[in-house]
Amino acid sequence: MNDCTYQLLIDVPRTLRIAVGALGVCEFPAGRYVYTGSARRNFEARIARHRAQKKRLHWHIDYLLAAPGVRITEVVRSTVAECLLNRATAGAIPVPGFGASDCCAGCGSHLKRQA
Ligand SMILES: [Zn+2]
Repeated sequence: MNDCTYQLLIDVPRTLRIAVGALGVCEFPAGRYVYTGSARRNFEARIARHRAQKKRLHWHIDYLLAAPGVRITEVVRSTVAECLLNRATAGAIPVPGFGASDCCAGCGSHLKRQA
């Protein structure tokens, strides 16, 4: 089954410096971001979790989404494999390694900044 990929379009209204788990303190310039992830099981629950305000911070993306003012503007569902979709997405990499702990395709990051 391959229809388990999603992209979160994220608005970061002002530049942030926040601690992101083991990555330490990272800087996120203000702008529009795209985060690419996948969930083979409980897909809708994963999306709902990303949208939830209160949760234990576990994944890198949790730390960004928990920051003041940061919000998901759109959720795009896809059947393209996670890393293929990520690499086909335009954008710069603000934080190397972000969301790529499980990536075995050498993406560098599963978070991209588009503007
Ligand atoms: Zn990847």
